[in-house]
Amino acid sequence: MIFDAVIIGGGAAGLFCAIEAGKRGRKVLVIEHNPQVGKKILISGGGRCNFTNLATGPENFISENPHFCKSALARFTPEDFIQLVRKYRIEYYQKKLGQLFCRESSRQIVDMLLAECRRAGVEVRTGVRVDSLTRPDDFEINTAAGKFKAKTVVVATGGLSYPKVGASDLGYTIARQFGLDLTKTRPSLVALVRKNAPNAKALAGISLDAEVSTGSHSFRENILFTHRGLSGPAILQISNYWTPSVPVEIDLLPGQSLHELLTKERHRSQRASNFISELLPHRFVERFVEDNFPDRPLDKLSDREIEFAAAAVHKWNVQFSETEGHGRAEVTLGGVSTHELSSQTMEAKKVPGLYFIGEVVDVTGWLGGYNFQWAWASGYAAGRDV
Ligand SMILES: Cc1cc2nc3c(=O)[nH]c(=O)nc-3n(C[C@H](O)[C@H](O)[C@H](O)COP(=O)(O)OP(=O)(O)OC[C@H]3O[C@@H](n4cnc5c(N)ncnc54)[C@H](O)[C@@H]3O)c2cc1C
Repeated sequence: MIFDAVIIGGGAAGLFCAIEAGKRGRKVLVIEHNPQVGKKILISGGGRCNFTNLATGPENFISENPHFCKSALARFTPEDFIQLVRKYRIEYYQKKLGQLFCRESSRQIVDMLLAECRRAGVEVRTGVRVDSLTRPDDFEINTAAGKFKAKTVVVATGGLSYPKVGASDLGYTIARQFGLDLTKTRPSLVALVRKNAPNAKALAGISLDAEVSTGSHSFRENILFTHRGLSGPAILQISNYWTPSVPVEIDLLPGQSLHELLTKERHRSQRASNFISELLPHRFVERFVEDNFPDRPLDKLSDREIEFAAAAVHKWNVQFSETEGHGRAEVTLGGVSTHELSSQTMEAKKVPGLYFIGEVVDVTGWLGGYNFQWAWASGYAAGRDV
């Protein structure tokens, strides 16, 4: 038997693509090597799946070609996905910054996608690993459970992050095999490891509101001190833009001016560390002051010392040596080069009938539901075409 479309990978993008193709009357098979589909959906958003972001726009994505994602995102919007969620009476809420989460469980999203697959007549095979893809005439998908034939193949194998839930590099291997370029891949939306941080262990667990910047990108959210460096939403966001050669600058008191505050209180004999502890967590201040400026009474601080203290707090320069790696990263940055694909359909320009969707493509979203929106939108684009 020959399928109109075989979709490799039963994750967010693969299932969504299958649904759209099935609705168009195509004979579709999804092949997933895990015993169940949508494992990343299940663990996402702390078990509540941050399934989209109301503010999704091309500016929330990183890619060698920042224009590539525009067409797909415009044709399948967050509102389109919300309509589906409403149809299944899944309760959701906005946590912050346009991020929509299931009120109950991520399982509801997976169940919804499986129900839609059934309605669209999509066949889903789980526990079957795809080993390779060949194209003697039609495509042949070689698996641990035998060979499948298809007129078109959609590669939806995701990125390399969280190998324990089934990530594989098959998508990149297939791209290379068919002569398609890849951009460099690396872990992203991930905690960063500090270069020289003798105090890291003592600071672990401290969380505070901060503005984290690198180059022209800046995010204001919480940061969290870890045993090896920093994590928390603002750090995960900046990890998309971080490169080892460029330091990250952190404003530990965004929206306030330590310079003004210290100058105003200069008549007091209170120690600098005690005063700053009124603004920042005490355990952090103890170490930070020790490392950065003399802990003298405020009325003994010189102009230069005040300037130095303010710069240390508002422009804390942090050097990171590496990320915490694919095992801890939410996504993989980079992937199949967008110049190889049609932005309308996700089909490889050089290989008619071969499509790449979701995270395997060099399109990576910010933290906050953007990566799922890309999975739905790119899946939709390919599903309308296969
Ligand atoms: C812990 C965590 C939390 C996250 N939370 C969020 C969130 O709340 N919101 C958000 O937008 N994004 C979140 N993400 C990112 C999001 O999960 C991914 O970007 C998204 O799942 C990508 O969809 P995809 O379909 O491209 O890949 P995936 O969902 O990873 O699907 C790929 C599928 O292909 C299968 N596969 C791989 N190789 C083979 C093979 N050889 N044979 C057969 N099958 C194979 C895999 O098992 C997998 O099921 C999170 C990621 C992680 C790791």
